[in-house]
Amino acid sequence: MSLTERQLPVHATMNQFSVRDGELVVGGERLSLLAARVGQTPFYAYDRSLLRDRVAALRDLLPKSVKLHYAMKANPMPAVVGLMAGLVDGIDVASAGELKVALDAGANPLEVSFAGPGKRDVELRQAVASRVLINLESFREVVALEAICSELGLPARVAVRVNPDFELKGSGMKMGGGPKQFGVDVEQIPELLASIGRAGLAFEGFHLFAGSQNLRSEAICEAQQKSYELALRLAQHAPAPVRFLNLGGGFGIPYFPGERRLDLAPIGDNLARLAQRAHAELPDASFVIELGRYLVGEAGVYVARIVDRKVSRGQMYLVADGGLHHHLSASGNFGQVVRKNYPVTIGNKADSQEKETSSVVGPLCTPLDLLADRMNLPVAQVGDLVVVFQSGAYGASASPQGFLGHPVCVEVLV
Ligand SMILES: *Cc1c(COP(=O)(O)O)cnc(C)c1O
Repeated sequence: MSLTERQLPVHATMNQFSVRDGELVVGGERLSLLAARVGQTPFYAYDRSLLRDRVAALRDLLPKSVKLHYAMKANPMPAVVGLMAGLVDGIDVASAGELKVALDAGANPLEVSFAGPGKRDVELRQAVASRVLINLESFREVVALEAICSELGLPARVAVRVNPDFELKGSGMKMGGGPKQFGVDVEQIPELLASIGRAGLAFEGFHLFAGSQNLRSEAICEAQQKSYELALRLAQHAPAPVRFLNLGGGFGIPYFPGERRLDLAPIGDNLARLAQRAHAELPDASFVIELGRYLVGEAGVYVARIVDRKVSRGQMYLVADGGLHHHLSASGNFGQVVRKNYPVTIGNKADSQEKETSSVVGPLCTPLDLLADRMNLPVAQVGDLVVVFQSGAYGASASPQGFLGHPVCVEVLV
């Protein structure tokens, strides 16, 4: 190994999966047999036992009183939502389409919350009729809900999504602080709360979501602390006691070289301290943590088959039957500023010591269709299976499957 190679930061070990007979094992099955069972490549596979383990590990570290919600936009596959609905305390939906999947999956409507900056009137109506909690994001929604309630003769359960005056430091994606389309600025919240009271909506709490994909526990603790303080101040203006305080999430997973798994212990300790304060200061409130990526991201792999192998000006290209159109985030085109490789391997040769530098590309006619840029991978041939790890979140549903007219991928829960 040359000096420069040794100095390159490496991907965190994807030790959530084991290797048997040289092959990656997913859902208890060797990859080549799993591919045979699925009947086609490309596919996504999500490992149930990893999903269960992740929720159990969180429950161990979070105070018992904290409710754990699954933000299903991270992975809306109905079978995954069904499994998660049985493991967590509630589901967070971002559209009436997701609401349907959550309710079909058996989620308790009283533990479903609905957020999103552009809720159409028909979606608000569906939410009221379903008796789920609506996270209000504008004054217009209050007016619309007042009319819907009188029409249906039902109350509207609402929380207020606050655009805080701080952000989650070091987040992959900032969703609070500064001007934002999400929620209502903290400065306008007292006025919004008054209008909720006048409209007779059933106020139940606050929702603060400051950012996403964060690997620094101290930044998450700081955001939770500030969210709590802010909610405490705003509660003085509320038309009813706070029953839910949704502190958001933002827990990240490692994707790129040099990144490490989040340290949950300080977050658990911090929440325990806040929960103790809330016991005295907001006695009717339960804390909610809403997580998407952290719950499902590490449990999933994307698998494509190599259909060609060729050299261009000294660089090895492995051409796969899947790529950007199924897995936009692994191609680096879903919000990344600088493209970096996701962890990738050749899954049916996972522990092969025979390696070479190769780039894995997809079948699309665009140079953006890149799954691995000059990575050190097991030497692969046509027919071998490329695996992209950390693919359980923002994969299939976050990708432009119609682009270029290739076949859609399949998803399995194993
Ligand atoms: C997207 C989203 C989440 C989930 O974010 P992750 O980074 O996947 O954990 C949670 N809450 C809200 C309001 C969201 O929009």
